[in-house]
Amino acid sequence: MTEKKFASHADLVEKKVSFDKLSEHAYAYTAEGDPNTGIVIGGDGVMVIDTQATPVMAQDVIRRIREVTDKPIRYVTLSHYHAVRVLGATAYQPQHIIASRDTLDLIVERGAEDMKSEIERFPRLFRAVESVPGLTWPTIVFERRMTLWMGELRVEIMQVGRGHTKGDTVVWLPDEKILFSGDLVEYGATPYTGDAYLTDWPVTLDAIEALGAEKLVPGRGASLMNPRDVRAGIEGTRAFVTEMFESVQRGAEAGMDLRSVYKETYAALHPRYGHWVIFYHCLPFDVSRAYDEATRYRDPRIWTAERDKELWDALEG
Ligand SMILES: [Zn+2]
Repeated sequence: MTEKKFASHADLVEKKVSFDKLSEHAYAYTAEGDPNTGIVIGGDGVMVIDTQATPVMAQDVIRRIREVTDKPIRYVTLSHYHAVRVLGATAYQPQHIIASRDTLDLIVERGAEDMKSEIERFPRLFRAVESVPGLTWPTIVFERRMTLWMGELRVEIMQVGRGHTKGDTVVWLPDEKILFSGDLVEYGATPYTGDAYLTDWPVTLDAIEALGAEKLVPGRGASLMNPRDVRAGIEGTRAFVTEMFESVQRGAEAGMDLRSVYKETYAALHPRYGHWVIFYHCLPFDVSRAYDEATRYRDPRIWTAERDKELWDALEG
């Protein structure tokens, strides 16, 4: 028996927020590995990319936006469906909430279960959770790509491939070579792959690399402010995802059970990635999804609060 609940339950220290200026039109709200929010300021208004987990938490983003512009917040864009990114949306009172069709499909299919699971997994990330009015629903849904002109500023909202989820969406400012990647790229933070497509993810990273971003706001971790750091973020994510999946594939092919594969993968990855934030939180879910994909589940299975606990007991109990 174990007293240990999810690793996240011991993760209680509030993070320091940075509000970085990437250009006249682009800012990033980052918090030492907690989920990031991107901000695009166009001629006619503001776009927020990922909302923070609750409306109360979103108020701090709004406060910082108001220090740099008084333009209206017109758009919220969802990089994917995860609760920790989307449930603060109402605070911005946007005219539109933009998401890919695949993201909408995931909200319909598993949004409610995901919300419950995520809140129980990581309570610190849902400050004032009672302010969440319910699921966040997009009002504009696109397939593959849409172009939005915010005044003179061209904003490309794109799916470049599956990775962290099947709905992954990036926001690209082509004239400034600035990319908001969502959780497809992390920096100094462990990629969460519980809902991922691990075979596809490295290919999607190739497509991201081909954009030639000079600055990049990852899903978690510090803003990457030059091409060298952008490359480091992309390569670090690729290395983790690839090594983790290969380790699990080897174990699965050798007929090992999930617990044994987990122990082996943990030992293989810990020396290199153990210092990345949320490593201990992510790895059980990451290995579980990798084991599924390596064996018999092409698509990620829905996480429920009950399934979370079963997994944690099976691997860490
Ligand atoms: Zn996510």
